Amino acid sequence: HAKRSHHKVVFYREELNQHSVQRLSLMTELRGAIERDELQLLYQPKLNISEGVVSKAECLVRWYHPEHGLVGPDEFIPLAEQSGAIRELTKWVILTALDQHLRWRSDGIDVQVAVNISALDLVDNELPAFVSEALSKRRLSPSVLTFEVTESALMAEPEQAMSALSLLSYMGIALSIDDFGTGYSSMSQLKQMPVSELKIDKSFVLNLASDQQDCILVKACVELAHNLGLSVVAEGVEDEASLQILKRYGVEYAQGYWMSRPLKPADFSAWLEEFSH
Ligand code: C2E
Ligand code: CA
Ligand code: CA
Ligand code: CA
Repeated sequence: HAKRSHHKVVFYREELNQHSVQRLSLMTELRGAIERDELQLLYQPKLNISEGVVSKAECLVRWYHPEHGLVGPDEFIPLAEQSGAIRELTKWVILTALDQHLRWRSDGIDVQVAVNISALDLVDNELPAFVSEALSKRRLSPSVLTFEVTESALMAEPEQAMSALSLLSYMGIALSIDDFGTGYSSMSQLKQMPVSELKIDKSFVLNLASDQQDCILVKACVELAHNLGLSVVAEGVEDEASLQILKRYGVEYAQGYWMSRPLKPADFSAWLEEFSH
């Protein structure tokens, strides 16, 4: 179709170039973003549905860029993965999350933290020792930490992923399969993974209250997870009706805007205080 209009070709080229120049400079800047203190972690509560309590939170990174303002992880995590900076970023996230856990704990709040781990982290031989040292330096039990790994990250290098996960799980870190339902893992692969939690992707949860097909899919995922001895988290819970459906299906945890958006640490404490009373 490009042949038909010369102008169109020029237009697309320029846009493409601008886009890739911007990506390239973001990629370079990301390397220094940690040192310049431009990254921040937000925390989103995971509600224990049957008990009605919150004792876990997912850590979600934000980049406050001096010129571009807030850059979302969907934009810069892929760049960090391409440039290799993700390994450093993940380590920063882990340390920041553990320090926040300690700070909350000194305020009398017990919040286990879940960190997102990329495919590249699973082939980072330094990661297990790094985590182990980070925990022991803080005299923390590995049970305060969960790693969320997407189905597609698991399947990128299944054998290496498997051995990394086995080691992490042996160390006592809880492992969760993120974005479940969007990848291609088979039942037999799932069965072999040393994971304890399955996180149903939000695309199946967002319209649960109005979409009969989503209900069928979610119900099937829950059944599969429970048969494999895994607990289930549903993400993207945006209304009360969906929460009630999930409760009926026996889903253990719910995460989403209906409970709360991802929050800064002080806002999380305030939210929790309010929620618990
Ligand atoms: P994810 O791990 O699937 O995280 C869930 C995303 O859904 C988050 O987007 C969260 O803010 C959003 N969300 C939560 N509840 C709702 C809801 O009720 N409705 C809707 N529509 N969305 C909801 P966020 O924070 O923009 O993060 C996007 C993705 O970026 C994450 O998806 C994760 O894959 C990646 N990411 C975020 N932080 C990190 C990190 O520290 N390391 C790595 N490797 N990836 C990260
Ligand atoms: Ca996640
Ligand atoms: Ca997810
Ligand atoms: Ca996702």
